[in-house]
Amino acid sequence: MEQAVGQADLSERPQVEGLRFARRMYFLRVLGLLLGAVCIGGALWNQGAHAPAWAALLANALIWPHVAYPLARRSGNPYRAELRNLMMDSASGGAWMAVIGFSPAPSAVIFSMMAMDKVGVGGLRFLARCLAAQAVAAAVVAMAFGFELHPLSSTVERLAALPLLVAYPVAIGLTTYHLARRVRSQNRTLAALSSLDGLSGLPNRSHWESVVASEFQRCRRIGHPSSVLMIDIDHFKAINDRHGHPVGDEVIRRVAELLRRSLRLHDVPGRYGGEEFGVVLPGTGVEGAEVLAERIRARIESAVLEPRNAVRATLSIGVAAFDTLDAGHMEWIARADRALYAAKESGRNRTARYVAAGG
Ligand code: GH3
Ligand code: MG
Ligand code: MG
Repeated sequence: MEQAVGQADLSERPQVEGLRFARRMYFLRVLGLLLGAVCIGGALWNQGAHAPAWAALLANALIWPHVAYPLARRSGNPYRAELRNLMMDSASGGAWMAVIGFSPAPSAVIFSMMAMDKVGVGGLRFLARCLAAQAVAAAVVAMAFGFELHPLSSTVERLAALPLLVAYPVAIGLTTYHLARRVRSQNRTLAALSSLDGLSGLPNRSHWESVVASEFQRCRRIGHPSSVLMIDIDHFKAINDRHGHPVGDEVIRRVAELLRRSLRLHDVPGRYGGEEFGVVLPGTGVEGAEVLAERIRARIESAVLEPRNAVRATLSIGVAAFDTLDAGHMEWIARADRALYAAKESGRNRTARYVAAGG
């Protein structure tokens, strides 16, 4: 069940990303075409253009963005549809440049704003495709309506190009900034996800070991007592054998949950391996750690861990306090592990404290 949900999320992801992309482009297109119409309008004004040209310009600026967005939204692949929309933008930009006789000021501004958009979306390859569309559209318009080169831009044309030149890069910059922020926060989420164990939701082994490592350094520095517990479910293989792996998984999940609920805010549990858990208890000496371990053990012993099959289980727990003689944190963990095996050997369902050989 959980796996099915996960897979659905994954297959929906491109769809969701595509829709987000189309929405981002919608806002940029509304702004860009409005300012672009002012830019082209300066040149049309200069040429004394007739009504059809003005009507086409208004339609392009005021209607097209609100057609392009639903086209992408309703498409089976919004991302690909939006790329087609962007190529249409480039083509219409090329057509307008031909209409105004490539008057340099508006043409250069339109060209560079569009190129900035396209290269930002799809890199040089997409830019090349858009430029090709732009050139074809310009050639078609020049052939269809005749063409007269305007090598010099008037003051009106230069002024009309300014709003697009000034405002549009800011809009692009803002979009890029929001994208970068989203990427940063997704990276943080990924980092958090990768340090958690998928089944139990507890920190995974490597993350938990890094917590032990920093606690080890802290104990050395400030000299306070801390302890580590190693916990193992007794005869877990029998639970798997009798009830099946999914029930075994449920037991692991439930033990993890009860474990977490038994701890204080600063205690850090982790899933060490299959049915083994570790807990770091900062600031807790060996006596306190034993009391806590017994509380955890009693709580699991009295719980029904999987109600449908009435599965119960017990724990064996090893306790080791920080020791300045340890060379590193792995030695600390190893001592807790040795205590755990002593608990197993002396009959299971009990807590054992690490005792140095001969001590
Ligand atoms: P002991 O009391 O000595 O600890 O006996 P045990 O049966 O618990 O110990 P053993 O290490 O022999 O068996 C652990 C079993 O846990 C073996 C493995 O198949 C099972 N196991 C490990 N990881 C998982 C898991 O993620 N899910 C399930 N269901 N079983 C697991
Ligand atoms: Mg076991
Ligand atoms: Mg085990």
